[in-house]
Amino acid sequence: MTAQLIDGNALAKKIRAEVAGRTQALRARGIVPALSIILVGEDPASQVYTRHKVNDSTETGLQATLERYPDSMTEAELLARIDTLNEDPAVHGILVQLPLPRHMNAHKVIETISPSKDVDGFHVASAGALMVGQPGFWPCTPYGCMKMLEDIGYDLKGRHAVVIGRSNIVGKPMALMLLQKNATVTICHSATQDLKSLTLQADVIVAAVGKRNVLTADMVKPGAVVIDVGMNRNDEGKLCGDVDFDAVKNVAGWITPVPGGVGPMTRAMLLVNTLHAAEALSVER
Ligand code: NAP
Repeated sequence: MTAQLIDGNALAKKIRAEVAGRTQALRARGIVPALSIILVGEDPASQVYTRHKVNDSTETGLQATLERYPDSMTEAELLARIDTLNEDPAVHGILVQLPLPRHMNAHKVIETISPSKDVDGFHVASAGALMVGQPGFWPCTPYGCMKMLEDIGYDLKGRHAVVIGRSNIVGKPMALMLLQKNATVTICHSATQDLKSLTLQADVIVAAVGKRNVLTADMVKPGAVVIDVGMNRNDEGKLCGDVDFDAVKNVAGWITPVPGGVGPMTRAMLLVNTLHAAEALSVER
């Protein structure tokens, strides 16, 4: 069996086109959806990520502003800047790029962002809303995975989903989203015993670990849907996921590639969240 590919690039393109259309409609009413991105320090990967976020936004008609601050910025200065953006009615979404310099408490910084502008979905209020099934911002990576499942028309009701990884930004929210769609969910982590016995029972597997070949072909039930969130480098320095793609694709029913899978979807869902933030505000008017 050869799995069908879930093309993240193609789906992200479709989503960006939808966002562009709805953004145009908002602009016609005088509302310009606006995202403020804050980058503190010189982390090279963060510089690339924030540049992508700005470009994605402007290409879809959103207004994105990147504010860059030196490593020497104090936590108090950052919190004050976030407070100002919280109060600014022309700013709909605020994103503080992580990781922050070591002298800053990331949790405290994220909690300072107004929940109504928390387009990364990392605020405790956003996590709580997801937990109890109330409206709120969903973290972009698991949200993108859900969109992929929706796009292939996969009905999660009664299916067994195994999530490998339990981080606050991927694994845990992923499990809650799958649960909300009536899957039976198992969450695995570094202390899980006999991972293979669990993944072999899964109709859907989401690998979000950050280690190559965490999921090999002998661990996958024929026909299962495999979503690979991982971002690693192989021996040649090329980007790869957590899944042994070449072997697993011969067993799975559906599979996401790396690159070209979850990555572009994560980027697209940030645009969706920003648009939602602007639309929510426009409804309140
Ligand atoms: P993280 O915070 O490091 O979490 C990794 C999780 O994997 C932890 O829960 C850990 O368990 C678990 N784990 C580690 N070794 C394991 C093993 N051998 N078996 C089972 N579980 C194991 O990472 P993250 O932020 O969730 O990100 C995970 C991966 O996704 C990374 O490669 C990251 O780069 C990638 N990522 C990609 C995107 C994208 O857009 N494509 C977005 C976000 C993240 P413990 O909790 O017990 O330590």
